[in-house]
Amino acid sequence: MFNLVLFGPPGSGKGTQSANILQTYNLIHISTGDLLRDEVARQTPLGIEARKFMDQGLLVPDEVVIGMISSKIDENPEARGFIFDGFPRTRAQAEALDKLLEFKNTSITLVLSLEVTEEELIKRLVGRGQTSGRSDDTEEVIVKRIKEYRSKTEPVAGYYKNHGKLEGIAGNHAIEETFKMLCKHINKYILPAE
Ligand code: ADP
Repeated sequence: MFNLVLFGPPGSGKGTQSANILQTYNLIHISTGDLLRDEVARQTPLGIEARKFMDQGLLVPDEVVIGMISSKIDENPEARGFIFDGFPRTRAQAEALDKLLEFKNTSITLVLSLEVTEEELIKRLVGRGQTSGRSDDTEEVIVKRIKEYRSKTEPVAGYYKNHGKLEGIAGNHAIEETFKMLCKHINKYILPAE
């Protein structure tokens, strides 16, 4: 199995690049942001609880997110591999993911980290907020999300670096160009699906 973590701050292009990668390589996409927004839209108990955190730009508690991931992996026993997008976002999540995958006799293959300056991130997210309809895409919440990223999520890069799995990619280029750079790394492990 090929299991990829796409890592990077809010607005770094993880969602866009995930869509390209999963199409090219036929992988299963697991985006905790999308899964949470789906729970919010359906007004499930989990969604109602999660929304309180999301609207403040804070991370949703680890146990909530880890439970969601676990069921999503179980739903796809025949997968060629997974792209984890927006997960893990804390060290506890990273450790839990390693355990889940180990239980399934697999592991994280590669972590690609999209690097974009803070100024560019804010510009992109404010722009997206004008059309996305996302309640957390206001400038005030965006600044909080980036702060939360720096304090809780950025250290996760160190975790994967220590495991020799981290590769940095400049995320400030055009979408197509960034995609080509990501593919260069992925192609060392798997080739595009037919
Ligand atoms: P972005 O990366 O653009 O901030 P996401 O769609 O990945 O957006 O996440 C939106 C919000 O959902 C986050 O600000 C956070 O509140 C919550 N969230 C998403 N993934 C996680 C996660 N792995 N752990 C905790 N909270 C999460």
